[in-house]
Amino acid sequence: MNFINSPIDFFEYQGRTLFVKRDDLLNQQFNGNKARKLFYYLNNDFPEIDTLISYGGNQSNLMYSLSCLAQLKSWSFTYYTPKVSTQALNMDEGNLSMSLKNGMNLVPIEKHFNAFAQNLINDVVSNQLLISQGASQQQAEEGIKQLADEINAWASNKGFSRLAIIIPSGTGTSAAYLQKNLPEHNVYTTNCIGNTEFFNLQIQNLVADKQFPKLLVNKKFRFATPNQELFTTITKISQASNIEFDLIYDPVMWHLLLENLDQIPEPILYIHCGGINGNSTMLKRYKYLLSQKYPKNHIG
Ligand SMILES: *Cc1c(COP(=O)(O)O)cnc(C)c1O
Repeated sequence: MNFINSPIDFFEYQGRTLFVKRDDLLNQQFNGNKARKLFYYLNNDFPEIDTLISYGGNQSNLMYSLSCLAQLKSWSFTYYTPKVSTQALNMDEGNLSMSLKNGMNLVPIEKHFNAFAQNLINDVVSNQLLISQGASQQQAEEGIKQLADEINAWASNKGFSRLAIIIPSGTGTSAAYLQKNLPEHNVYTTNCIGNTEFFNLQIQNLVADKQFPKLLVNKKFRFATPNQELFTTITKISQASNIEFDLIYDPVMWHLLLENLDQIPEPILYIHCGGINGNSTMLKRYKYLLSQKYPKNHIG
């Protein structure tokens, strides 16, 4: 198992051929852009480390990937999160449930979570490895560079001199490092979390201004919030492609891509960032929203 070299599929949509880099298929458990961002840790030895530490939301895709990394490395894994509901703890699917099954030690911090998280760095001792929220850090570049190399090899094989590479952003780390390592191609992304200023602030510590990806600005959709328009878009795309996409980031990215498709003449390569383990919990929230709106309609 080496967690690299994912396949590239394609499908036809509105007269365009859309290519999809299937990073969701890198491995059944450890996949997507989180596997790329954590590749440095997987690929190097840390003989002094026996404990992984991180923090953030209790349905996070990164949390689940960290629980897989800890298993692969035989590390114990402690994860701090704000207060967790009993309902969330009792769920038998989704990222939290799967991370707990991987042996994650979940520690709820009831008060002043942000201050607590910021302070963690001061308490790390030599056998512990702390990975920041969203893994928005320099170590993420190694795996994203590997992804860039795979894309370059494929593009020259196909004779594509300039691609439009499409990837949704949370912290923007993946999109920024991808554009940095693919200067001949255009990387397009959208801000799924926060506004344009937030996006720029996050990546300005990682790359130079001229390496910024092109932002298709999202002004309308709030992070991880079920929305009828987004559901329609992702359903259309899933049907046309026969590929399951994530229900948090991908609907926003596909929506903005389709809105801007006519302005993007280059061949399109969409990066599938994984995350489908979280779909069961998100789909429950969608069913609730759509049943409120259409009481007689049954979905799925
Ligand atoms: C984490 C994640 C992203 C965002 O990645 P960033 O590097 O934080 O921008 C996009 N899609 C999926 C499925 C993710 O899990």
